[in-house]
Amino acid sequence: MTNAVKSFDAAEIRKDFPILRQLVHGHPLAYLDNAASAQKPRAVIDAISRFYSSDYSNIHRGVHALSERSTRLYEQGRVQVQRFLGAADAHEIVFTRGTTEGINLVAQTWGRRNIGAGDEILITALEHHSNIVPWQMLCEERGARLRVAPVNDRGEVEKFEFTERTKLLAMAHISNVLGTILPVREVAAAAHARGITVLVDGAQAAPHMKVDVRELDCDFYVFSSHKLYGPTGVGVLYGKSALLEAMPPYQGGGDMIRTVTFEKTTYNTPPYKFEAGTPDIAGVVGLAAAIDYVNEIGIDNIGGYEHELLGYATRELEKIDGLRIIGTARRKAAVISFVLEGIHPHDAGTILDRYGVAVRTGHHCAQPLMDWFGIPATTRASFAFYNTREDVDALVRAIHKAKEMFA
Ligand SMILES: *Cc1c(COP(=O)(O)O)cnc(C)c1O
Repeated sequence: MTNAVKSFDAAEIRKDFPILRQLVHGHPLAYLDNAASAQKPRAVIDAISRFYSSDYSNIHRGVHALSERSTRLYEQGRVQVQRFLGAADAHEIVFTRGTTEGINLVAQTWGRRNIGAGDEILITALEHHSNIVPWQMLCEERGARLRVAPVNDRGEVEKFEFTERTKLLAMAHISNVLGTILPVREVAAAAHARGITVLVDGAQAAPHMKVDVRELDCDFYVFSSHKLYGPTGVGVLYGKSALLEAMPPYQGGGDMIRTVTFEKTTYNTPPYKFEAGTPDIAGVVGLAAAIDYVNEIGIDNIGGYEHELLGYATRELEKIDGLRIIGTARRKAAVISFVLEGIHPHDAGTILDRYGVAVRTGHHCAQPLMDWFGIPATTRASFAFYNTREDVDALVRAIHKAKEMFA
């Protein structure tokens, strides 16, 4: 254990999250659904409230004081995201509604321009639906083919097979179901050697590990604010400058234009070209506060602590008879999917809730992956740095209760 991890005080950190201080069905809340969405620290809630209480206005076009202040905060948020991701330039950061919109944006702009009949897009078997369906839609439209890199029994992707026709690799950085951490840097290098463009779905990685887009050398990187302890409704698309410059606009409207006449409209430069209409200004202010908060704790401390907790939870769950963990990758983030012999995940989740334990059950927006493992659903406990061993113990106790009920 490093010093940083040893000095990490999750009990103290929990106090920053007002929502965690409650009883659910008479039990202290053990919130273990962080892969679906994370809770918000007081700093984020206050930043949004402060913004609406004293600085709020529409941005970019105003000359008055509030508009200038709001514009400054919005653009400062962009610079914070740039630094958080290690991007070369703030203009490589496009604000979206979230991961899903970021991927659709790339599919509908870069994709339509660069994917033709007979071309191939390679994804992996562990992708979230939002990194499958936009590519299927594009393939259907363009007459292209979607290929899938398989996972092994542990839930690792061992082999990425590129062909002459592969134009794009779209892969998760961390699986939201299995916790598998994928070797993005190595695979991106291999893809680039063949001139293949690389998009990374970082929805699960950005909140839990250091992400440096220049070190990874990916072309696109997407994530959602709400999983990074920020508000809902806002997300980030990072794209290399040259790619964003060459891409056609996504949606048309205000702010994305330079000049408009009925004969011809010229477009603004990136990122504004891709931000049509009034954006989620307060969302960006909240996301910036979330990044500040995470930076203060240190993303490496967060990752280190969560790794410890994953080890503890895995050991405790493995002791339970009839429980099988789905996803045992050697490089794994703090997500544990499991099935219980004789108990449907939905029933398990309902009983856990009665004991104040919040988990997710179902296919986790990854139906093809469920098919791969030959199961309809799992129960998933996913951790954040405000979770403690007590939360794990509550989970284990509640699973034993469920087992008693179904015995
Ligand atoms: C949550 C998630 C998404 C979708 O994110 P939204 O915020 O719903 O757009 C995509 N991919 C992964 C891996 C996710 O965990």
